[in-house]
Amino acid sequence: MVAISHADIVRAPKALLHDHLDGGLRPATIVELAGAIGHVLPETDPERLGAWFVAAADSGSLERYLETFAHTVAVMQTEEGLRRVARECALDLAADGVVYAEVRYAPEQHLERGLTLDAVVDAVHAGFREGCAEAASQGNVIRIGTLMTAMRHAARSQEIAELAVRYRDQGVVGFDIAGAEAGFPPTRHLDAFEYLQRENFHFTIHAGEAFGLPSIWQAIQWCGADRLGHGVRIVDDINGSELGRLASYVRDKRIPLELCPSSNVQTGAAPSIAEHPIGLLRDLRFRVTVNTDNRLMSGTSMSREMALLAENFGWGWSELQWLTINAMKSAFIPYDERLALINDVIKPAYAKLL
Ligand SMILES: [Zn+2]
Repeated sequence: MVAISHADIVRAPKALLHDHLDGGLRPATIVELAGAIGHVLPETDPERLGAWFVAAADSGSLERYLETFAHTVAVMQTEEGLRRVARECALDLAADGVVYAEVRYAPEQHLERGLTLDAVVDAVHAGFREGCAEAASQGNVIRIGTLMTAMRHAARSQEIAELAVRYRDQGVVGFDIAGAEAGFPPTRHLDAFEYLQRENFHFTIHAGEAFGLPSIWQAIQWCGADRLGHGVRIVDDINGSELGRLASYVRDKRIPLELCPSSNVQTGAAPSIAEHPIGLLRDLRFRVTVNTDNRLMSGTSMSREMALLAENFGWGWSELQWLTINAMKSAFIPYDERLALINDVIKPAYAKLL
C-alpha cells in the first residue's frame, strides 16, 4: 500500500468535533495581543513561544500544563482579542481542509476585563463569521458550530446551559463541561443536563480521560450525554474482544468517542500513538472520531492527527473516510445538513482518493 502523505490528507475533507478555542491560537497572535494589554509571556518570539507551549504540555506537570491556558485565556478578554482568535481559528481549520468543525470554549473564562457572557459569545461568533467568509473566498469552504463549555469545578453550568440554548439559532450547536475530571464528577451539574434535555438540546461531556469508567458511566447514564469528550478509558471495560456492560452499551448505542490521540499521549491517557486504544476501538467498530483537542499545546492539526494514525496503524483512505463520516454522523447540526455534507462533500472527495 502506498503511504498517504500529509499533503494529500490536507486536501481531503475532514470533520472535527473536539477543538478548544483557547487551545488553538497562533503563537504570533498571542505575542501581539499580549503586547497590547501588557501581559507577560514566557517567550516573545512566536516560534519559541509555540515550542514553549508544546514543551509545557509535554512536561507531565499539571501546573505547567494549566499555565499554558493562563496565557491564551489572558489575551482573550476583549472583543477584539476574541474576534481575532475566532477568525484565525476558522481560517486555520479551513486551510487544513476541515469542512465542518465544532469549536468549544467557556464564556465564563473571558469576563476578566468586563465583558458580559453575551458579549463574549457575540465577539466569537463575529470572528467565526468573518473567518468562514474569508476562507470561502479563498476556496476553502468550512462550516463552524460552537459548543458552550461550563467549567466543572465552577458553579455556573446552569447559567451557561441557558446561554447556549438562547444562542441555539445563532450558531451554538451544543454544550459541554470541561476541566479537572477527578473530584468533579459530571453529576455535580445534573440540573444543567436535565434542563438541556428538556430543551431538546445536544451535549457532550469530557469524561474518561483523566478518570475512568465511573466518569463515563455517569456522563451517559446519569447525565444523558450524546457524545463522550475523549472516552478513551472505555478500554478499561474491554478485555481482548470481550466487552463489559458499559462498553457494550456505548458501542450498541453508537455513542461517539471524541478521541484526541496526541493530546491523550501528552496527558498520559495513552502511552504513545502506536499504542493508543483507537486501533482496538476501531477494530471493534465503536463510533470512533479523531480530533485535535488543543492544536497549539499539541503542535498539531486535524491533518497531522490523521497522518499519525495512517503512519502508526497503516490506515488508508477507507479508514480516514470512515473516521470522517463517523464524525459527521455525530455532529450536533440537524440530520439533513449532516447528510448533505456527507453525500455532497465528503463521499465525492474520498471517492476520488480511494
Ligand atoms: Zn478537550
